[in-house]
Amino acid sequence: MLNDSDFIKTCDVPGPSKEAIRAIVLYKSDVKNDDVVVDVGCGTGGFTCEFAQRAGRVISIDTNPEAIKITKKNLKKFNIDGDVTLINNDGANALKSIDGIDIAIVGGSGRKLEEILELLDSRLNSKGRIIVTAILVDTKVEAINKLKELGYNPQIMEVNISKGRVLDRGIMMMSENPIAVITAKKR
Ligand code: SAH
Repeated sequence: MLNDSDFIKTCDVPGPSKEAIRAIVLYKSDVKNDDVVVDVGCGTGGFTCEFAQRAGRVISIDTNPEAIKITKKNLKKFNIDGDVTLINNDGANALKSIDGIDIAIVGGSGRKLEEILELLDSRLNSKGRIIVTAILVDTKVEAINKLKELGYNPQIMEVNISKGRVLDRGIMMMSENPIAVITAKKR
């Protein structure tokens, strides 16, 4: 796993998703070395950098051109030479021309989550996996309801991580913001 503190960051782009979250997403995705992965809302490239080391191909999409730039910088910084395509576009547009997806990560969707999930469903291989990471309660509910409507059996895990800061007189636990990892597998 990559270290959170090693990522290049900028105030214009959220991320990276924390190490523990990336680890859970990787394990839930059951990624194989020939899988095609899309990272919708790649942000700083947290998921892109992890999957690019383990999958066959990664396609990363973000509406924010700064996110595409910083994801590219992070791939370079970590010397990741996997097959990665970076697309500066809305996921709801870009996905129309992508097919044969094994794993779809949705880390950002704006107000287009339902549209993106519908597109992903139509472009996902059988046994494909959709993983949504959501901070807003509303996004969690929307993702679950839409995935149910599309015929999936979604699972939701709320992840609360606290990390220790070692001080002179003891260890202070500092919490990170809770985030839900919603997973669904195509039959
Ligand atoms: N998981 C990322 C952080 C994601 S932040 C990491 O580890 O670095 C969410 C990102 O989603 C933002 O960069 C935002 O620009 C992007 N985003 C929001 N709506 C989007 C959409 N409809 N299509 C593509 N990207 C989108």
